[in-house]
Amino acid sequence: MANVECPHCKNTFKGSPLKGVAAATAGAIVGGKVGAGFGIAGGPLGAISGLIPGAIGGGVISYLSSNKFYKCDICTRYFML
Ligand SMILES: [Zn+2]
Repeated sequence: MANVECPHCKNTFKGSPLKGVAAATAGAIVGGKVGAGFGIAGGPLGAISGLIPGAIGGGVISYLSSNKFYKCDICTRYFML
């Protein structure tokens, strides 16, 4: 357990990194947003095409590394440290 600060709502709480499937889910969400962010720069169609590889890549990477994702217990959003 470690004190972590949520970047979304600034809540500080004691949390454990997500593991396995939970980490992959968090990674897919975070990765999807990053991929969509890149895609938006390329237009609406790019946002869709960026979302899917972003989600897959994020999910795979987080499943393999599997120790950097947290879920905020206040705003319930996922974030990566
Ligand atoms: Zn939060």
